[in-house]
Amino acid sequence: MTKHIFVTGGVVSSLGKGLNAASIGMLLESHGYKISLQKFDPYVNVDPGTMAPFEHGEIYVTEDGAETDLDLGHYERFTNTVTNKDCNCTTGSIYYSVITKERQGKYLGKTIQVIPHITNEIKDCISRLAGTDTDVVISEIGGIVGDIESQPFVEAIRQYGREIGRENVLYIHLTLVPYLRAADEIKTKPTQHSVGMLRQAGIEPDILICRTEKPLSADIKEKLSLFCNVDKESIIEEKDVKPYLYEIPLLLVEQGLDKIILKKLQLKTNGNSLDRWLKMLDALKNPKKVTEIAIVGKYIGLQSAYESIYEALTHAGISNLAKVKERRIESEDIEKLGAEKLLKGCNGILIPGGFGERGIEGKIEAVRYARENKIPYLGLCLGMHCSTIEFARNVCNMKDANSTEFDVNTPVPVICLLEEQKNIVSKGGTMRLGAQPCRLQTNSIAYKCYGQELISERHRHRYEFNNKYRDIFATKGMICSGLTSDNELVEIIELKDHPWYVAVQFHPEFKSKPTNPHPLFREFIKATLDVNS
Ligand code: GLN
Repeated sequence: MTKHIFVTGGVVSSLGKGLNAASIGMLLESHGYKISLQKFDPYVNVDPGTMAPFEHGEIYVTEDGAETDLDLGHYERFTNTVTNKDCNCTTGSIYYSVITKERQGKYLGKTIQVIPHITNEIKDCISRLAGTDTDVVISEIGGIVGDIESQPFVEAIRQYGREIGRENVLYIHLTLVPYLRAADEIKTKPTQHSVGMLRQAGIEPDILICRTEKPLSADIKEKLSLFCNVDKESIIEEKDVKPYLYEIPLLLVEQGLDKIILKKLQLKTNGNSLDRWLKMLDALKNPKKVTEIAIVGKYIGLQSAYESIYEALTHAGISNLAKVKERRIESEDIEKLGAEKLLKGCNGILIPGGFGERGIEGKIEAVRYARENKIPYLGLCLGMHCSTIEFARNVCNMKDANSTEFDVNTPVPVICLLEEQKNIVSKGGTMRLGAQPCRLQTNSIAYKCYGQELISERHRHRYEFNNKYRDIFATKGMICSGLTSDNELVEIIELKDHPWYVAVQFHPEFKSKPTNPHPLFREFIKATLDVNS
């Protein structure tokens, strides 16, 4: 029988529920258990795909093409789980499904209500992940306990626990225990209130993970235990681990959280093996060299907008025993100050994905700088579009070249709308999404990176390389080194006359892990080190 862990949050959001859920998953895997991870988001959007990066941060794309919350990225980076569309549900998706069924007459004769119809739908989402090949499902409830919009989720997990039996379910509450400088005291009251709210909803938390600036004394733990009705040894202290997110599982293991979870769920402790993880952390913390990568983006002030990219760079650093120093540059600043001023001295340049016209000319300038100065360059999705435009304008002398995304009437549309997109009007889940196969040319940089001809990568786009220009570009030194199997879509471009220049239509960053870096990122970072050695 599949066991369930529910992770809720209290006091404030942004305490790292996703990272903790992922870390718990990683620890259970280290004991040999098969896990699945899932996130419930209480907002009303059906998925985050229609939200701007400033609103939501990165949209993480799954193999099966769901546009999801970035916590799913943490799940995949920390564990071996492969997430799918069932791993991220929102209030919007739950209501959408219930309302669709109502219109189909599936509840004919009934009044549709939050309890039981909405809560049943939430429970169905939870049980969809349970099954013979999953030992433990970990479900994270977004937001915090006490939010109006998270109430149906809290009620559903209460019901779920009652139905499957208390020994098969574990409630873990992540909370903040603040330190008040003026009083020089650690305060437990916010946690008491938040646990109080959970208990009012019928949930007794089994474990508290307490985010704190200062160590929790035995007295404080005693107090939390008494007021929150949680065993003292199940009160886990979690101090900030910045900058090494990947240390969180170790913090938890040090306090025996893996054993506590297994005991409470009546699962055997198989003796964990953390060797691979520890080796990775050792490489991360003891780099032998440094490389500086300029990331030229449009949402640079917001860490979460490029979460998977920053992580993938870190992973690539680990495998090259190098520290990757990020130089984050707002592309509009390049428009104002020039590429030379902002990019000079960097060892590699990366242009991430994105949407819309703002900042595009700055990105194109950054590509030119990388090409002309032979600086290793990696372009992702929109980054590939910028590369194509730059090459057309500055190498092929097509001064008006552009993407129809930025200028619908451009006379030289080197990037244009995908054929399959031409009749699509509605937004939300309508782009070319998810894993798609791609065949590599064997004499290419891409092939050298992957070491195989057939690859599969995740996509999220509407615009594509315009095939009309393939031949002209080829004569000028641009190679289309990756194509879809029908040869119709260009997936990777490279430049002949450049040490390391690769731009891809897909998002390799989604498949990179600290223990298994993505080959394109790994080789990109290696190239930036080679150039300098
Ligand atoms: N805006 C571009 C498109 O829709 C690129 C998308 C992206 O970078 N993910 O094709």
